[in-house]
Amino acid sequence: MTPETTKHRFTLEELQQADDWSEGFCLACRAPRDGCEPDASGYECDECGERAVYGPHWIAIAGLFAEGEA
Ligand SMILES: [Zn+2]
Repeated sequence: MTPETTKHRFTLEELQQADDWSEGFCLACRAPRDGCEPDASGYECDECGERAVYGPHWIAIAGLFAEGEA
């Protein structure tokens, strides 16, 4: 799962919080994962085991917003 193929969307608030807390999101199951740089990519998810955890910068660049401009 990559930012190009995920069906999940995230709010700006979630992305800002992830940036502040050094979290990323799993694009397969949407679980947050801590200890991620903003530009983390392909990290393993603690919940589902997929290497689909991306930092908020990638999610923002890919335009995966739940609301607002795409
Ligand atoms: Zn996952």
